Amino acid sequence: MTANIIDGKKIAADIRENIRLQVNERIKRGKRVPGLAVILIGNNPASQVYVKHKRAACEQAGVYSVSYDLPRETTQHELLTIIDELNNNTQIDGILVQLPLPDHIDSQLVIEHIQPNKDVDGFHPENIGKLALRIPAMRPCTPYGVMHLLDSIGETYKGRHAVIVGASNIVGRPMMLELILAGATVTLCHRFTADTAAFVQQADIVIAAAGKPGLVKGEWIKEGATVIDVGINRLETGKLTGDIEFTKASERAKWITPVPGGVGPMTVAMLLQNTLNACNKHPF
Ligand code: NAD
Repeated sequence: MTANIIDGKKIAADIRENIRLQVNERIKRGKRVPGLAVILIGNNPASQVYVKHKRAACEQAGVYSVSYDLPRETTQHELLTIIDELNNNTQIDGILVQLPLPDHIDSQLVIEHIQPNKDVDGFHPENIGKLALRIPAMRPCTPYGVMHLLDSIGETYKGRHAVIVGASNIVGRPMMLELILAGATVTLCHRFTADTAAFVQQADIVIAAAGKPGLVKGEWIKEGATVIDVGINRLETGKLTGDIEFTKASERAKWITPVPGGVGPMTVAMLLQNTLNACNKHPF
């Protein structure tokens, strides 16, 4: 079997185009454009690239974006003050603070300071809690993007076994909640799992999000499985690679996402979707 590629780049572009049309519709009806504030602290090269993509996507979709490029020395108090202002700014629907933050800033405190209805990353405990309680509000972008990719290939979830490798707050855990909500049976593997291979071998859907290049071996993949690689790892050669042995996995899977061009573009598209959804909740 040679797997079909799930083209995240194309699916994300379609979503962004749809958002652009909806923003145009709002303008025609005399409503304001959605607004997103993107805050970057310090000069982490990977964060700079992610933020650049997010800002460019806003511009392309006609979403108003405000950029805060702050020095590494920015204090926690200064950051919380900016978030207070943005929480009260009626032109702003979404507030994104690019993680990781410098060590002198408490990330969890910052996440909890963002008003839940402006938490377009979906990391606030209220939004994670609502997802757990089956009343999703603002959904974490990467898992939400993965669900769109699975929906695009007609995944039915019910009676299917999904195995997630990686249990972080931003990917693995909310991914588990999304998949349970959709009706799948879910196994969540993490660094203390005794035999991750044994679980992956049983999976109808494999989601890898550990940040370890080649961790999931091609021979672990069950024939006909759907394989989603969330991992983004930069090799010494400068090449980007995922967590899954792509070539060998492709020989067994029915569907597979590439890295780059799979989940990455979806995360940005979902950020815009969350911003538009937040904006649509207002009458103006
Ligand atoms: P993280 O380091 O916060 O979490 C990694 C998780 O993997 C942990 O739960 C850990 O227990 C688990 N893990 C580590 N080694 C393991 C092993 N040998 N077996 C099983 N589990 C193991 O990472 P993160 O922030 O969730 O990111 C994971 C990867 O996804 C990274 O490569 C990151 O760059 C990528 N990522 C991609 C996107 C995207 O848009 N495509 C978004 C976020 C993160």
